[in-house]
Amino acid sequence: MRKKVVVLGANFAGMTAALAVRHELHGDVDVRVVSASDHFLFNPSLIWLPFGKRDSNDITFLVEPTLYHRGIEFIHAAATKLDPVAKKVTTDDGRELRYDYLVIATGYRNKNDVVPGFRENANTITTLPAAERTAVAWRRFLDHPGDIVVAASQGAGCFGAAYEFLFNTAHQLRKAGLHKQVKLTYVTSEPFLGHFGIGGLPHGEKLLGTFLKKEGIDARVSVGIDHIDQGAMVLADGEKLPFRFSMVVPPFLGQRYLSAANGLADEKGFVAVRDTYQTEKYDDIYAVGVAAAVEAPWHTPTPVGVPKTGFPTETMAHIAAANIAAQIRGEQPAHEKAFGDIRAVCVLDAGNNGVVILADKMLPPRKHGVLIPGPQAHLMKLGFEKYFLWKMQHGYVQLP
Ligand SMILES: Cc1cc2nc3c(=O)[nH]c(=O)nc-3n(C[C@H](O)[C@H](O)[C@H](O)COP(=O)(O)OP(=O)(O)OC[C@H]3O[C@@H](n4cnc5c(N)ncnc54)[C@H](O)[C@@H]3O)c2cc1C
Repeated sequence: MRKKVVVLGANFAGMTAALAVRHELHGDVDVRVVSASDHFLFNPSLIWLPFGKRDSNDITFLVEPTLYHRGIEFIHAAATKLDPVAKKVTTDDGRELRYDYLVIATGYRNKNDVVPGFRENANTITTLPAAERTAVAWRRFLDHPGDIVVAASQGAGCFGAAYEFLFNTAHQLRKAGLHKQVKLTYVTSEPFLGHFGIGGLPHGEKLLGTFLKKEGIDARVSVGIDHIDQGAMVLADGEKLPFRFSMVVPPFLGQRYLSAANGLADEKGFVAVRDTYQTEKYDDIYAVGVAAAVEAPWHTPTPVGVPKTGFPTETMAHIAAANIAAQIRGEQPAHEKAFGDIRAVCVLDAGNNGVVILADKMLPPRKHGVLIPGPQAHLMKLGFEKYFLWKMQHGYVQLP
């Protein structure tokens, strides 16, 4: 009997894990992918969608053909329940799926109640529908310009997206001839500019400060948001920032079905894992990507999260796939790398400029870390988007 691997989620983590485990075992395994969305979404390009530089067709593809060609079954459904003892997953279309090994790769949802008024009075870009609504709001803004506030709220981790949107906004304002008349403010929970939720990198604070100054952007650092009214953000220190347009990156939570899954998930819905990406509690259940819980090695005056970006997500998925393959072969799951020890590789886009972020480890202490600013970073981001979508759509997850 071939072993059954069920993968929940079909984005960076789920696609990589499913394709990699099949590859590791030369096809001698039954792999099923179950996902709430039948599309892959290249989330990093959501920063461009509100400005009309991308639409959903540019940054998504249907996952079923990719998986089918690799002998993987795709089920378009959401997991609603996980029973780790009976080793089965229930889905919203009433199926019960049994597994020998399970990969949880169901990513994030927005914490919509992070502050009163976030859902009603602010835009965000962290999901495709939200970015599409933000595109409508941006077009309305261009007809009636005014001040802008871009924020990463308390508990947020996806700071790269906040900075990218901020600098792309500045770039768009310049293109529209509005940069002199619009006051652009960045509000962040980071303890200093360029912390990024990863503790910062050498000269990062200075570099980000220079970028902000060059664009005439005001910053409010190490501060939370108290609430958001229609047309004004009120910060935790009482300051009120009026706006005509705003974009807020909220904290992320894990999916709801995990909160009730036999103590697998923490209070945020993220799953505690070992360095093998097996869950703390079960040898046959893995969690990878944003779904995996990560402990930050610091406390900040205003809480910040840790960004679980694409590169560590893929790394986690490959480690999980190699370990599942080992277990199926009757070996020990010996591949391991703690999240904090995975390399940091990221490109921060700034419209026609950007910063390449490289470090030997996601989290300190590090030996090396460097930020390389310049227009080549923007070109790299453009090229990487095309390359990554091509690689994933063709199932070439063994490529870098
Ligand atoms: C705006 C933005 C910009 C970003 N920019 C960058 C960047 O420049 N560089 C970078 O490295 N990273 C970036 N990231 C982070 C990157 O997007 C994440 O690392 C990546 O999305 C994590 O992939 P994942 O598969 O773990 O989770 P997700 O992308 O959240 O995917 C989760 C999957 O699970 C499915 N799912 C959800 N619930 C269920 C359920 N109950 N049952 C079954 N399936 C379910 C979803 O449909 C989806 O397929 C950015 C993120 C955002 C939001």
